[in-house]
Amino acid sequence: MAPKKNASRLSEYARKRDFSRTPEPSGRRARTKGRRFVIQKHDARALHYDFRLEVDGVLKSWAVPKGPSTDPRDKRLAMPTEDHPLGYIDFEGVIPEGEYGGGPVIVWDTGRYENLTTTKDGKPLAMSKGLQRGHVSVWLEGQKLSGGYSLTRVGMKGREKWILVKMRDEAADARRNPVSSQPESVLTGRTIEQVKGLRS
Ligand code: MN
Repeated sequence: MAPKKNASRLSEYARKRDFSRTPEPSGRRARTKGRRFVIQKHDARALHYDFRLEVDGVLKSWAVPKGPSTDPRDKRLAMPTEDHPLGYIDFEGVIPEGEYGGGPVIVWDTGRYENLTTTKDGKPLAMSKGLQRGHVSVWLEGQKLSGGYSLTRVGMKGREKWILVKMRDEAADARRNPVSSQPESVLTGRTIEQVKGLRS
């Protein structure tokens, strides 16, 4: 089966937004290939962290209310959201109030990742297949986060949730809490409050 063109993969993303009003990218232009990830801190109706992984030309996305943990004992809820265009990976700014997701966004962490996902008998599995089956593992090389993270689907069809967990490796650290100790953007050093314009 041929992969869907970005234009149709991103139709839900485009439908929810008026690109004449929001500074977010429209995704109409194709970008270079590679495997990148971003975690954007987003102060919309409720503060959350958007965890996005580049997979087959789009950013597969989850909203993580508490943000990622470096403690393997923490299970962080990750609600799936619509695919975003690759150009979203360095989006930082303010989505206007009244628009979809209105509020400030900063790039809290970004970098490259490797797919660690395997079948039950240990054979490498493509990200797209792992996502279909409801489990992927990735190795992150970010500025704040590194090492293995797993994402696992739980709950019933149509009301699915995913759980984000730090894997047990040398980057696991129960004492670190980068969500609170390193709140700033890795692109600009700004906090989300500064981007919102409350402080300068
Ligand atoms: Mn968001």
